[in-house]
Amino acid sequence: MELLFTGGRVLTMDALDRIASGVAVRDGRIVAVGDSEEARRAVGPDATHVPLQGRALVPGFCDPHNHFSMTTFEPRSVDCRVPPLAGKAAVLDAIAAAADGSPEGQWIWGLGFSTGVYEPVAGDPDALLRWELDEAAPRNPVCVMDSSYHACYANSAALTLVGIDRTTPDPPGGEIRRDDRGEPNGLLWERAMDVVHHASMRSYVDTFGPDVVADLVQQNAQRHLSHGITSVGDALVMPESAEIYRLTDERGKLPIVIHQMRGGPGFFAAPEDAAGGAFIEDDVSDRLRGGIVKIFMDPVWPSPAMTVCHADGSTEDVGAPYYGQEEVDHLVLDAASHGLQVAIHCIGNRAVEQGLNAFERALRETPRDDPRYRIEHFSLATSEQIERARSLGVIISHQPPFLNAIGEYFETRITQAGLDSRPIPYREMLDAGLTVASGSDFPCAPVEPLLGLYSLVSRRAGDGQLVAEEQAISPLEALRTYTLNSAAAMFREHEVGSIEVGKRADLVVLSHDPSLVNADFIRQLVVQQTYVDGDLLYAV
Ligand SMILES: [Zn+2]
Repeated sequence: MELLFTGGRVLTMDALDRIASGVAVRDGRIVAVGDSEEARRAVGPDATHVPLQGRALVPGFCDPHNHFSMTTFEPRSVDCRVPPLAGKAAVLDAIAAAADGSPEGQWIWGLGFSTGVYEPVAGDPDALLRWELDEAAPRNPVCVMDSSYHACYANSAALTLVGIDRTTPDPPGGEIRRDDRGEPNGLLWERAMDVVHHASMRSYVDTFGPDVVADLVQQNAQRHLSHGITSVGDALVMPESAEIYRLTDERGKLPIVIHQMRGGPGFFAAPEDAAGGAFIEDDVSDRLRGGIVKIFMDPVWPSPAMTVCHADGSTEDVGAPYYGQEEVDHLVLDAASHGLQVAIHCIGNRAVEQGLNAFERALRETPRDDPRYRIEHFSLATSEQIERARSLGVIISHQPPFLNAIGEYFETRITQAGLDSRPIPYREMLDAGLTVASGSDFPCAPVEPLLGLYSLVSRRAGDGQLVAEEQAISPLEALRTYTLNSAAAMFREHEVGSIEVGKRADLVVLSHDPSLVNADFIRQLVVQQTYVDGDLLYAV
């Protein structure tokens, strides 16, 4: 099976940022990159010819931080996003309609509701309260995930099933929100949501059964292919996530590569077993990979773990990290001693500090050739921390679609906290010499790499406002963070991430070359074709 691309703008992402016009592929591998004639000479007359006619050919996008398993059940869940729904009443109506059509006792999942931009609301007036959900769904347990994925809203049936009542203490690192009388009001923050989230996911997997679940995973992969994404790192794999990937892989229905970033038994739970090497067998096939542990260092609610600087020069710690330094050090050391990669979610500058401390200690006490420790988000890191991450060789895994979705949140937080930092500082990070990988954090932010690319180059938030314009990077720099750097964050740069001879033919045809159009026009670019191992798996 041979493929021939000619007459294009081939953005190779090789070490020289070479731009070619032709590419030849045989048996899923790239065999020639050069001008159209060179490519043509490398294949026979029967090769499938794709005339690019000036369109761009780029490496398949790698999304190293994506919650793929969480969005797999989206077609069987209630869309609770506002908009498109008009408001809370419309969300409750949608849940009532789903409950009417469901057998008694079956879990109902809602996705995407939000009380605001990651800011806790005093008294929870805008939350979906337990009693409101009871009215909408009196016969079914309900779990509505907040769009941040750091909180959920549960009804009485759900709370009863998992044993949460007024006597239940808040778990460490979580809060069961309560009304004036001390009754849980259904809003569960951070680790308090683990039990409800886990029970509902377990039930979804069991209720639909392996064949339907495999089809849902395949359908979700197809959606990612439509955005040009050919490799995904699932940034929190619980036992149920691993189960759905395995059963899909066994049925040969996994068209993209999934990297399983192992967490604990609940979404925010400590990954003690994973760090102890319990899931070494996660590296099960060509499509389904493992070898990486994910640790959550800090919450979103009520605040990321920050050290804020007041105007008088004093400092104050706000927001509690999930772990003390010693605890996280031991998780990282354990994972390191088992040869595992570690990725730590750190939003606040205090969380970043603890993450860097843990990596520094692991580098010292369990030295390895190429550990590729990662910090996820790194959202409110300071300039000093950028330099420190560079000196430790830590990879930064960030999600540029956040700039579009909530760019102003970072600016506000940084200003309020008096930090020496810039929102989503790509220019500063690249100039400092950091390896920065870009992904989505979908569904917490939009999945489209092209939206991220646009954000990084234009620095425009969703409302059109410029956010730290001086942090803009070039289209090719931005593309590199989504391809070669993201592949490196997943230990796959020898296989994918650039268009070079010998690599897998994971390729994307874009309607335009992003390096030749106006920054604002990048938003209009279209993914026209996506290939994995030389197979055309998506076309407009
Ligand atoms: Zn995430």
